[in-house]
Amino acid sequence: MSKQQAQKGKKEAEQQKPRKTYLFRLYPTHKQRDVLEEWLGLCCETYNAALDERKSAYRMAGVSLAYEHQCAELPGCKEVRPELGEVPSQVLQDAVKRVDRAFEDFFRRVENAEKPGYPRFRSRSRYDSLTFKQYGNSFHVLSGSKKNKGTLVLSKLGHVKMVMHRAIKGRPKTAIVKRTPTGKWYVSISAELNEEELQEKRLPACPEEVGIDVGLKAFAYLSTGEAIAHPRFFRAEEAALARASRKLSKAPRGSKEREKKRTVVARVHERIVNRRKNFIEQEVCKLIKRFGLFAVEALVVRNMIRNPNLAKSIADASWSMFFTHLLDKAEEAGRVVVRVNPAYTSQTCSACGHRQPMPLSVRVYECPHCGLVIHRDHNGSLNILEEGLKAVGRHSRVIPEAPGLQPWGVVTPHELSSKHKTV
Ligand SMILES: [Zn+2]
Repeated sequence: MSKQQAQKGKKEAEQQKPRKTYLFRLYPTHKQRDVLEEWLGLCCETYNAALDERKSAYRMAGVSLAYEHQCAELPGCKEVRPELGEVPSQVLQDAVKRVDRAFEDFFRRVENAEKPGYPRFRSRSRYDSLTFKQYGNSFHVLSGSKKNKGTLVLSKLGHVKMVMHRAIKGRPKTAIVKRTPTGKWYVSISAELNEEELQEKRLPACPEEVGIDVGLKAFAYLSTGEAIAHPRFFRAEEAALARASRKLSKAPRGSKEREKKRTVVARVHERIVNRRKNFIEQEVCKLIKRFGLFAVEALVVRNMIRNPNLAKSIADASWSMFFTHLLDKAEEAGRVVVRVNPAYTSQTCSACGHRQPMPLSVRVYECPHCGLVIHRDHNGSLNILEEGLKAVGRHSRVIPEAPGLQPWGVVTPHELSSKHKTV
């Protein structure tokens, strides 16, 4: 095995270790903020220069430059541009690494015959994060004596105030310092968990199974007949976002007013994301405690997000976040998540397997074959569960011998929760 291969193998093994990411708010001083902004600018320049060099090398000589080659050029760049030396060298190297990753992703997409999207230059405002690697060298975390008071120590910058609302478990590996569009600063620290810490997160085994269908009327529908309603703030936030976007589009281009309106839009966006995140974390937490197996639709999220309808695009973003979070938490807790093909889940009768067209406007599934009458999304979630169980080989649908014997009613969440209590 060559040295390079050995390094690659080692890297992959490291990536496989389970990690947990912590997000903390940072409160840099004015001076520190200026320094961070300057570093962002210099990293952005480095990124664009590295990208430009790769493009030209390919265009003029048909050569693709390696990350190592480009990194080796950095000291030379620092001689010409001494201010580059003010940025911690690992942080600067990471800017070059990002170009490398952008090309890797690009070639992977080409290989998979996806829409490739050639790596693009970044504008100064879109380059908003700095990566610090090597804990103990380029960054440090100090937890203060008082509650929540922590400090992030960054090389060449010093002590930055950090609110630690929870203690970090495991060994920190990287810290990504990020500026939001409204000028807030955060750090996301990813830590490697050891076996003991992983065991702590495991929940006792649970035999309960559930199928989850996402719908437009309710946020999600469970095969138990319960619905998770859209949180009430969705509507209000949608309206606020539409209002702010309208005002932004009316403000003259390049004016100070437009800048202000842009900040308002960014602030509403940030608020929506935060509230959505809280909502999803709470719901996922409840689900993980109750069920041991989850069957969900394998949604093609990329297509969904392209939807031009604002209300729907917000809902879509929530679902993809919901599924991602569910997968993460399930893995930690040792739960099973099965993703099933969403084809026909709404058209098929969950009792007898009969299939009929179901336009979106039809809210109730009425089966002409077995007489089942059931809420559309409840029916979908039962089919999803069925498919999921089939996929893991647990059992498959038992088709009732005499159709029409057991017409199931639509179970409301209220009825169901009272049932649960009496059991
Ligand atoms: Zn039927």
